[in-house]
Amino acid sequence: MDAEHLQEIPESVQEGPTVHRLADDLVRVRMPLPFALDHVNGYLIRDGAGWAVIDTGLNTSPGRATWAQVWEMLAIAPTDITRILVTHAHPDHLGMAGWLQSVSHAPVLMSIRTQEAMARIWEAPVESWRAETELYLRRNGLDPTWTERVLAHMADLRSQVHPLPQTILPVRPGDVLEIGRRRFRLLAAEGHADDQVLFYEERERLLWVGDQVLLEITPNIGTWPATPPDPLGRYLASLQELAPLPVALALPGHRAPVLRFPERIAELQTHHAHRLEAVWQAVDEAGSTTYQVAQRVFPLESYPIHQVRFAIAETLAHLERLAATGRIHREDDPQGVWRFHRVGSRRNLRALPDL
Ligand SMILES: [Zn+2]
Repeated sequence: MDAEHLQEIPESVQEGPTVHRLADDLVRVRMPLPFALDHVNGYLIRDGAGWAVIDTGLNTSPGRATWAQVWEMLAIAPTDITRILVTHAHPDHLGMAGWLQSVSHAPVLMSIRTQEAMARIWEAPVESWRAETELYLRRNGLDPTWTERVLAHMADLRSQVHPLPQTILPVRPGDVLEIGRRRFRLLAAEGHADDQVLFYEERERLLWVGDQVLLEITPNIGTWPATPPDPLGRYLASLQELAPLPVALALPGHRAPVLRFPERIAELQTHHAHRLEAVWQAVDEAGSTTYQVAQRVFPLESYPIHQVRFAIAETLAHLERLAATGRIHREDDPQGVWRFHRVGSRRNLRALPDL
């Protein structure tokens, strides 16, 4: 794939046909999602006589119909799939890995951390999340009536990720994989999902970038019930690490390919700097819960539950970053609700000894 060819890609894929040949040996598949973000990209890469797959879509009937369209348009059989690679354990990327394995008999390759995340999030029954979900909602200022809605939503998602793959080949950041004529180096990319791995092809300067860098939309950086502290800190560190990588074309999990990789990274850094400011502004004098801040930053009333959950997680991630950089601090009230206060606000100054 030469540079001239790459220049032609963005316009031709903007429209988003279901199956799009980026090159003779490289295909993008747009799979449907039942969310505001209505698609996820999967990729097929020529692998000897067959094709390797990167990311799979949600296991829904439109999702399975899309794969049937892929077999037809490429004139291949499901058994021509040689291996199935998963960038991270989010449902839209992992969801059909087990189903694809059942029709192709191909191994599924995922990082050890993705395998652990899969077991934790998708293997365990939704009921096992009840206590953790209740605690998370209470801490963030949502009343317990949200628990049932959140669990029902999780149950719905879980059904679209099953069956889970049975034969898994674990991979690690730093590993090199030969797929057809290409050599892929695996890179860790934390923050959006701490288990995420990217696939970098050095010779062609191609990067399968998962959800780490997206065009038009910003990847969700959220603190969820089991997320280790400060995912936004890890995300910003990862962007800084990725920025100098020579990338002619980044192939993302959503939307169009990214041609100007360092510029897009700079935009994402600016976006989070602005959002950190907006979140800081939304913390009021008397202290605010995550939910109160989220209500001021996002139009929550117009959101379906899926987006409300993302907005809460995103707000909390920004609050945590502000706390990590000393701009706000957290107080836990006797009911276990987290209240954030701006450091240096009048209320805190009053607590200081008279000068
Ligand atoms: Zn995604």
